[in-house]
Amino acid sequence: MSDQHVAGSARLDTLPVAVIGAGPVGLAAAAHLAQRGIAFVVLEAGDSPAAAVRQWGHVRLFSPWRYNIDAAAAGLLTEAGWVRPDNDKLPTGAQLAADYLQPLADLPALKPHVRYGARVIAVTRLGLDRLRTTGRDRAPYLIRLATGEDVLARAVIDASGTWGKPNVLGASGIPAHGETEAAAYVETALPDVLGRDRDRFAGRRVLVVGAGHSAASTLLDLAENALGTTVTWAIRAATPARTYGGESADALPARGALGTRLREHVESGAITLLTGFSVQSVTAGPDGVEVSDGTRTVTADRVVGATGFRPDHGIVSELRLDLDPIMGSTRALAPLIDPNEHSCGTVPPHGADQLTHPEPGYYAIGVKSYGRAPTFLLATGYEQARSVVAALDGDWAAARDVQLDLPETGVCNSSQDLDSDTIDAGGGCCGAPAAVPEPAGRGLATGVSGGLLRTPLTVITAPPTPAEQSGGCCG
Ligand SMILES: Cc1cc2nc3c(=O)[nH]c(=O)nc-3n(C[C@H](O)[C@H](O)[C@H](O)COP(=O)(O)OP(=O)(O)OC[C@H]3O[C@@H](n4cnc5c(N)ncnc54)[C@H](O)[C@@H]3O)c2cc1C
Repeated sequence: MSDQHVAGSARLDTLPVAVIGAGPVGLAAAAHLAQRGIAFVVLEAGDSPAAAVRQWGHVRLFSPWRYNIDAAAAGLLTEAGWVRPDNDKLPTGAQLAADYLQPLADLPALKPHVRYGARVIAVTRLGLDRLRTTGRDRAPYLIRLATGEDVLARAVIDASGTWGKPNVLGASGIPAHGETEAAAYVETALPDVLGRDRDRFAGRRVLVVGAGHSAASTLLDLAENALGTTVTWAIRAATPARTYGGESADALPARGALGTRLREHVESGAITLLTGFSVQSVTAGPDGVEVSDGTRTVTADRVVGATGFRPDHGIVSELRLDLDPIMGSTRALAPLIDPNEHSCGTVPPHGADQLTHPEPGYYAIGVKSYGRAPTFLLATGYEQARSVVAALDGDWAAARDVQLDLPETGVCNSSQDLDSDTIDAGGGCCGAPAAVPEPAGRGLATGVSGGLLRTPLTVITAPPTPAEQSGGCCG
């Protein structure tokens, strides 16, 4: 080993591991780092921990406390006298933040190392751009904050989530025509229509776009609380079957009831459902905002885009990443989480090996690690955090001993009546355990195979070309 290498390595060893984001998974990573005595700094854009979770604080989680608390975090908290919430209760996002994440971030083992108002805008290697190879493994990470400050680190755990990058309304993955200009009319997923954001919804015409749990949650809040809102629901699929779920045949009665409630509101006319609606244009007009699929137009006062989220790889674009071209996760993880094949419960346990990029020491964990796949669960993220921290500690035996202990029931989908805080007994949230590829690690992956995105969409027809409009070249 050259002297230069030794000097470089020694310098790296004096630097902390940087964790981007003080959400549930970033704080879990911090707890594991603290437990192993590894120096770290958490860089959080918000002014408190769980800044993203607090944004959806009014929404009840669908998995109970038992699966929402990291083991290392629980250990540190318990030593400090924390009383663990009831394992079987379903917290709201606000309760997750107040009863678990805030006390965790306030522990003496974490607090001095968590920096708020520290938005990361870029991560690179000190003195090296992405092209340079020589000396790369010895160069510290340089993390630039929005304030202009540079932070050096020996490794980076990127747990910055996806909440800050919602998907667009446009059906083709890019903004619909006029969507950017009409942004003032468009809400991102899960507005607090009964609380903080009530004034923007009461008595208004609201269009909700999307077919997932977020859309269902907003639709039921609007339809069931006498807000005087005119509610329209637009989905790309030809039927709302996926959103309705199993109804009375559902293994979990409360989840079935949720779909039934939604269907009843559609059938009674309280919610106007538009199927096969792929948003093509959004136009602000004198009478509100007009949203069109090319043939039908909805005029509304507010549009709620409940179309999912995507990761922001922009901040790490100077690093050498091996991203799956479809999912935006690592290539190794992509087939394990593909929503064309998987529901969340069928994702097998995975860790540092599946999260490794060509850039040694950089790991994306948490919901960001899944890229565009909407199948992420906290329990999986906590196991990622444990494994990655073990790998950074050189403890590859622990890093590779990935485990996931999900039950067959009640963790991986909207399984509850939205108002209930207690999980049902019996039945499988995702049906019977599925035939999934043998996981690399230990533990039970549950759920039905056949992914969330199996529903066929109505194919959009291209507009006629000028030649076609004029009858073609031959008149
Ligand atoms: C409504 C809703 C309900 C859900 N319910 C469940 C459930 O019941 N069970 C379950 O297992 N999962 C659930 N999930 C999925 C998932 O567990 C959550 O999204 C969870 O918050 C992901 O945790 P995270 O730490 O990866 O990311 P986040 O919670 O998004 O945390 C990321 C943090 O990084 C910060 N940040 C972002 N960018 C930067 C930057 N550039 N610099 C510095 N800091 C930055 C953010 O401010 C935030 O604090 C739910 C998600 C949603 C949206």
